Formats: sequence, structure tokens, C-alpha cells
Amino acid sequence: MAEKIIIFDTTLRDGEQSPGASMNVEEKLRVARQLERLNVDVIEAGFPMASDGDFEAVEVIAKTIEGCQIAALARADIADIDRAWEAVRYAKRPRIHTFIATSDIHLKYKLKKTKEQVLEDVARAVSHAKGYTDDVEFSAEDATRSDLKYLCQVIETAIEAGATTINIPDTVGYAIPSEFSQVIRTIKGQVPNIDRATISVHCHNDLGLAVANSLAAIESGARQVECTINGIGERAGNASLEEIVMAIRVRKDLLDVYTDVNTEQIYPTSRLVSTITGMVVQPNKAVVGANAFAHEAGIHQDGILKEKTTYEIMTPDSVGIPKSSLVLGKHSGRHAFREKLKELGYELTSTELDIAFQRFKKVADQKKVVYDEDIIAIVEDEIFRIPDRYKLIHINVQSGTVTIPTATVQMEVDGRVVQDAGFGDGPVDAALKTIQKITKSKSRLVRFSVAAITGGTDAQGEVTVKIEEDDQTAIGQGASTDIIIASAKAYINALNKLEYRKKRLRGL
Ligand SMILES: [Zn+2]
Repeated sequence: MAEKIIIFDTTLRDGEQSPGASMNVEEKLRVARQLERLNVDVIEAGFPMASDGDFEAVEVIAKTIEGCQIAALARADIADIDRAWEAVRYAKRPRIHTFIATSDIHLKYKLKKTKEQVLEDVARAVSHAKGYTDDVEFSAEDATRSDLKYLCQVIETAIEAGATTINIPDTVGYAIPSEFSQVIRTIKGQVPNIDRATISVHCHNDLGLAVANSLAAIESGARQVECTINGIGERAGNASLEEIVMAIRVRKDLLDVYTDVNTEQIYPTSRLVSTITGMVVQPNKAVVGANAFAHEAGIHQDGILKEKTTYEIMTPDSVGIPKSSLVLGKHSGRHAFREKLKELGYELTSTELDIAFQRFKKVADQKKVVYDEDIIAIVEDEIFRIPDRYKLIHINVQSGTVTIPTATVQMEVDGRVVQDAGFGDGPVDAALKTIQKITKSKSRLVRFSVAAITGGTDAQGEVTVKIEEDDQTAIGQGASTDIIIASAKAYINALNKLEYRKKRLRGL
């Protein structure tokens, strides 16, 4: 009989550790709500000891989300575990996830501890966590580079102390599937009390093998997989949730396991996480990329028209991509608008829907086709709106092979018109530097990316920027057929968000 695989989503913890992907508390809660709709089993909401923001996010999610287990991460340290519990205790089904490294490299250089000391730490930490909740997960960090005999000893100790889930992370993305599979089989065969715990895996993608390693582990008996939406995470990222879930579903003939994930929510979740983190999904990304279901070759198109299964192993609608991309225009009604929002990962109340729909009608009157990005902009603007401190009035940029790129910008700052001019290394640089001069912002630009929404040289360009000041970050987006205008809009959008966050922090 098919056995269940527990899907442990760590988008909000490991995923958030992706360079440039940090989210604030409200954004994390929005993602958590969508993960609840996706029906993952466990949401790892954060690492409460890491920062006050992380603590607050875990606490809010634990208080709000009822449909999933909520986990909080803690080092194998009493103060860390106390802090994790303080945040996660409000959850209906709270889990404490504690970890310590077990490889020689980590013991020698990072922890500066002996193997015996680490064993003591494991026993102490797990029993301490067990005092708070029955549901304790233990991770042996850098397990794949640990001495396997010692690893088995550590696992036995953790289970003896009360751990109910044992996680085997391939922390540095070093393992090869056949080898990883052997590690799991050895643990199953050698650890005497292993039947009292669920084996979990947590694979990183440094060699592009995170999903392959996770599947190999499932075949060898792992029953929990840790993964993230769009595969985001430290460095090259984590195993991607959508790929694991769909591999399990498409190849159930071979794997004989299942998940409880509501696969129709995969695409909306992917979109939401991408919008919030500003991390664009590559077009050729499996399952959720723009080209994942696009057939270009003539022979393939011919085959698909005759019989879909000739070239399609799963359907776009099974992952929540609508059959024909629903393009909205001025004749689209409220119902179509609401359906579109759902596809994009937005569940609005009916009042919110009314407000957004009115604005949509205005935009649709001006444009023939309203793109998804326009709709995201409408909703983010109208519903998750923040009062704008800065507004762009006009921008003029000159550049070419013989001139120094120059920008003239006129803006409204706190209701006052201000203008200035400046140079830059290129037209975008000149525009952004001039805006920075006008706003006197001390923020640093940490990411700038451009994506074409449609094909051709008349394509709408969508720019995403991420800025940082002290501990605060903000992501701004802007779309236009003119890439410099889109950049200016995105930058000003980010500056407004950052101002709002700073204001909120000051309690204004
Ligand atoms: Zn990780």
C-alpha cells in the first residue's frame, strides 16, 4: 500500500536565507496562508533566535495558521530552544526542530567540540525540547560528510532522548543519489531504535541533485522531505517542492508513495513567492517555469494536437496553470478577474475584490490587454498599498556612444516638487543615482533584475529592485515598455516601501 510522504516546507526559513530573499512579517504570513492552501504538512516558519523579526514571524504564523504543523528552528542549545518554544507554542501542533553538526570538519573548525561532547549536547537539547512538546525533530547538520558510524550513534542518542523525526541534511549539496540512498539504508539497518522515528531528508542543490537525492532517499525509506517553493534557499537552493511533489505524483507507479499536497495550488504559490521575494523563476524551470508546458518543435506540436500524452507527462491544470492563459481586457467581468487573481496566488475578501476590480476597469480602458504583471501591480498597489512618500513626475535620460549618460528627474517628495540632474555609468545608473540624490536615501541597491513580460522589441519590461538599509529591505517592481522608466518606477516603489517599514518600526 502506498505510504505518505510528509512535506515539510522551509521556504520561510531556509528559503528566506537565499541571498536577497528576506521577507518581512506580513509577507511571511501571506506566504504561510498560501502554504496552508497548498496543504503542506509542516511549515518551518523561522529561526526565532536569529532575529526579532524571525521571532515575530514564527509567533504570528503559529497563532494564525491552523491547517499545518508549525516548526521553529533552534540550535542544540538551551537558550535557543527556549526562544523557539516561546514563539511556536501558540501553534495547534507545534514542533521544535533542533540541530547540531556531526561532521569532523564542523566539529573541529566550527564547534571545536569532541564527538562525545556533541553526543551530550544532542541528548540534553532533545530532552529539553521534549519537555515542551512531543513533536521534536533533530537534524545532524552536514550528515553526508559525517562518519556514518558516528552519525548512527548520534541518531540513536537523539531518538533515545525523544526525537520523533530524524533529519539527514545534505547541507552542502555534496551527495550523489546512489550514495545518499546507501546512507539512508544504513541508518535504517544500523540504528536500533530507528522504528520510533520518521526519517527526513533536507537536500541542497549545489550540484543540481537536491531533488534526485530526495527521491533516492524516499526509495530507501525516508518519509519526510524538506523542500522550498521554487527551490529557493542558501546558495544554489533547496530541493524544489513542486518538482518533488509532481515526481511523486507522476511516477506513483514506481515510487508507491503519495503526498497530501493540493497540486492545483502549486502555480499560484510559485507566483506569490516569486512576487514577494523578487526572485524571478527561470523560464525553463521544471513544473512552474513559463516554458514548462510550451511545445515549440513542429513535430511536438503536431503530436500534442493529436494526443496530449505524446509529449506531456502531466497537465498544466494539474499544477494550477490554467488551460489557456486567461488574458484579461476591458470586457472581462468580475468573475474572470477573481479567477485570474486566484491563479496569481491572491485570495481577496469581497470588499478588497471590489476595490481592485474598479481599478482594473480603469486600467483596462487604457490598455487593450491587461497583463498578469499589471494585475499584480494593481493588487499590490490597491490592497497591500502603502502611502507613497515619493512620486515620479517625469524623467528624461540621454545616453549614446558619445555622451555621458545624464538623467533629469522631477519628483514629488512629501507633496513638494523637487528636481535634479545627475550622471551615471549607463542610463539606468544615471536615473537611479538622480532619484537617490532627490530622495537622499541612504539605502543600498542589492539586486536589480529585468524580465521581458512579452516577446518582441515592444515587450513590456518588468524590473525588480531590492534595496537595503540597516536591517530593513524592500522590493520594488515597475513595468513599462521603456526599460529606464520601468527601472525608475521599481526603484521609487522600493524606496516608498522602505520608508513605510521604517515608519512602522518607529511606531508611527
Ligand atoms: Zn538548508
